[in-house]
Amino acid sequence: MNESKKCLECGREVIGRSDKKFCSDSCRSAYNNKTISSDKQIRKVNRKLKKNHSILSSLNIDGKTKIHKERLLKEGLDFEFFTNVYQTKEHKEYRFCYDQGYLPLGNDFYLLVKRELDK
Ligand SMILES: [Zn+2]
Repeated sequence: MNESKKCLECGREVIGRSDKKFCSDSCRSAYNNKTISSDKQIRKVNRKLKKNHSILSSLNIDGKTKIHKERLLKEGLDFEFFTNVYQTKEHKEYRFCYDQGYLPLGNDFYLLVKRELDK
């Protein structure tokens, strides 16, 4: 006998074969579109973070490098993407992409820093 199942998209009862997951074709495509676009979104963010990280790694040669904002922008750094923020007691805000971070120094200069992730 058929067990009653709920549509993954709208929650209505699915009638028919037991392997059916959706009540209609439109529900199936709506569900798949959402899943795909969120995967795409994740990949896009991952790409941005990786790119930022490789830019910072290549510019931060000795672990502490002072650099002008123009240079960072020219290399393609996207200031909207970072993995975490570290705020000091003096209310300075470091932004990190994994182990590579930057701190605004004022006058469009930045200090690039490297963090030990194991600690
Ligand atoms: Zn449905």
